[in-house]
Amino acid sequence: MSDILELNNILCVTVVTMIILVAYLVSRKSLQQKTYYKKIIDNSANIVVVHDTKHIVSANKTFFYYFKNYTSLAEFTKNHRCISDFFEVEDGYLTPEKGEITWLESLADIENKKHKVKMKINDESLYFLISASLLDEKKNIYAMILSDITEEESIKHELVSLSIKDKLTNIGNRKYYDDILYEHITLAQRYPHTFSLVLLDIDFFKKINDSLGHDVGDQVLREYTKFIGYHLREVDIFCRIGGEEFVLLLPHTSKDKAYTLTQKLRLLVEQYKKITEITMSFGVVEYEKGDDAQTIFKRADTALYRAKNTGRNKVIIG
Ligand code: GH3
Ligand code: MG
Ligand code: MG
Repeated sequence: MSDILELNNILCVTVVTMIILVAYLVSRKSLQQKTYYKKIIDNSANIVVVHDTKHIVSANKTFFYYFKNYTSLAEFTKNHRCISDFFEVEDGYLTPEKGEITWLESLADIENKKHKVKMKINDESLYFLISASLLDEKKNIYAMILSDITEEESIKHELVSLSIKDKLTNIGNRKYYDDILYEHITLAQRYPHTFSLVLLDIDFFKKINDSLGHDVGDQVLREYTKFIGYHLREVDIFCRIGGEEFVLLLPHTSKDKAYTLTQKLRLLVEQYKKITEITMSFGVVEYEKGDDAQTIFKRADTALYRAKNTGRNKVIIG
């Protein structure tokens, strides 16, 4: 009888020991697995962060490569609730909030999973491709991966800027003028939106080239473009559409207001006298219902032609 009891005890101890051993091995394996995963995530070139709906919960090593000012997440969360504090608002990039929808909700949108985001970190503008996946539906926990696309985006911006900028004066070129005029006509057709268009042309510019040389002529174009640009409002669009011909698109501006602004510019140009004395003639028009790119330009050109033919250094409203 006692032999059977002892055998039972031995069996029990063996079973318990085996259970403990298996549990230990399983836990060691999952611990090992966790360590592997952590190493992989930490060594990723991408930023990986875990977020609930409001706060950042955890971040990999790469995160601290970008957010250099912080050495731990605790330090980061003292100053910031989440990475959206660093988002820059720009067309085509994810914004922290779009009305009621937060950036996390737009990110988790299954249909449209990859977004671009622009962030300003330590005074540097960086671009990332950002994607999110829901880790825990009940707790609304998301994992986010951000891959740095700053180089690609910078090249793209450079190319766009080259295609719409005039090389000599660095203001918008003819293509930019065409695009922007089309945009404003479309707006004016749909909404109560108006704008004025001003054509500017340097008077007797050929004489400057002939007397002072083509290089000085170029300098004059650069200098006076910069000067006019300096006196415009942030919203005004200034483009070079020909040799010494320019256009101003003045959003939300009636022709009377445009006339006042243009007269001011005319006088400023006349009085500037840098490099050499120049004057300019101007044709001013306002968008009219039914206008297209050709008709509005034609009216401005006719007004400019009248300014030229009635003495130059003038502003004529068309
Ligand atoms: P108007 O008062 O009638 O406008 O006379 P204008 O001499 O200004 O006009 P015209 O059209 O007769 O001559 C324009 C001149 O502008 C001729 C051309 O050589 C010069 N021009 C065009 N593009 C450039 C440029 O990029 N650089 C320089 N330096 N000159 C240019
Ligand atoms: Mg001219
Ligand atoms: Mg001309």
